[in-house]
Amino acid sequence: MELTRRRFIAATPLSAMGLLSAATGLSLLAPGTAKASTSARDKHREPLEDFIYDIENGSEGWSGAGGTAKEATVEEFPVSQSIAGVLMTLKPGAFRELHWHSIAAEWAYVLEGRVRTTVISPDGSSSTDVFEVGDIWYFPKGHGHCLECLGDKTCKFILGFDSGHFSEFGTFSLTDWISHTNPGILSHNMHSNVLANQPARELYIGTGKIVTLPREPYINPDIPEGTSAHKFRMEADGILQNYAGGYTKLVSSKEFPIQTTLTALRMNIEPGAMRAMHWHPNADEWQYVMSGEGRVTIFGSHGRVKAMSYNQGKVAFIKQGYGHFIENTGKETLKLVVLFNSPVYEEVALNTWLNANPPQLIADHFGITVDQATSLVKGGSGIF
Ligand code: MN
Ligand code: MN
Repeated sequence: MELTRRRFIAATPLSAMGLLSAATGLSLLAPGTAKASTSARDKHREPLEDFIYDIENGSEGWSGAGGTAKEATVEEFPVSQSIAGVLMTLKPGAFRELHWHSIAAEWAYVLEGRVRTTVISPDGSSSTDVFEVGDIWYFPKGHGHCLECLGDKTCKFILGFDSGHFSEFGTFSLTDWISHTNPGILSHNMHSNVLANQPARELYIGTGKIVTLPREPYINPDIPEGTSAHKFRMEADGILQNYAGGYTKLVSSKEFPIQTTLTALRMNIEPGAMRAMHWHPNADEWQYVMSGEGRVTIFGSHGRVKAMSYNQGKVAFIKQGYGHFIENTGKETLKLVVLFNSPVYEEVALNTWLNANPPQLIADHFGITVDQATSLVKGGSGIF
């Protein structure tokens, strides 16, 4: 029996032929070139995962006298491997206690009220900043920090972490460490016994005196003020791009140098408009819906397309390289806060790509005329 190419491929493990990527499990064979093994083909046909989660109402989260915290990590939102979100409120006088994150940098956008932060850097300097609505912060991985509600109005902010495996509840907190350390060691370490014999507990969100400006001096007034800027006014100073159907304000590491692992975007899509078909070669995309209603549709190759609707309080996650578009399906502006897990922003717009080819070539793809292909010149990028 003659061993045809098709039979040979079907009979030979793809991995042995180097045609199956070990990392992704995806066949590198083009569809129709040959019949891949049934299991590999079936893997391609696995339905796309859910990519929208209700961070506002999806879980009980943490609630206490000082405020609330709700998470969207891989626990709640499995597709979100590279970025986690936390929605937090702090009441007047409340503070998120001193802590650090061992595996993730922290980013946030202020939605309501005012927040004051202090951050310690490895160089021994400390920075204190005040954040208002529309401002963002970025604390590098491992830098100790504290968040306080400033003034007499509850503050609310959406936090983003550059690892989906981060957990806000499993983070490294000051009271957790102190209350689990031998009193003798604490007295030796601090040259003071005031922190000895703390009850075993983690404060997490504490309450105290309402914070006002200007800030009081540090315990040691000689601690130098840090020079690395953790604050950027995204709403005021993000790179504005206006479109027929909305706008974007971009903040990459070019505008905000400390933001070395993320790029941030504010995006408005007006009723009836859409964010045009595109993908991001270099990053996953994470979104939080501030207001409005929309529908996100993703294309995951091998005929897999999935649409999901969202509105205020939802987060969405689109994997790197997946084609997608967003429609405003409501009557008000769809307002989004968006993160990408890369310090540099990149996108490929489908219309730009089509326009960057000869009409005959595109005509041959779809069985249309050259004139018809030429009409694709009307397609733009962005929001319309
Ligand atoms: Mn934190
Ligand atoms: Mn996108």
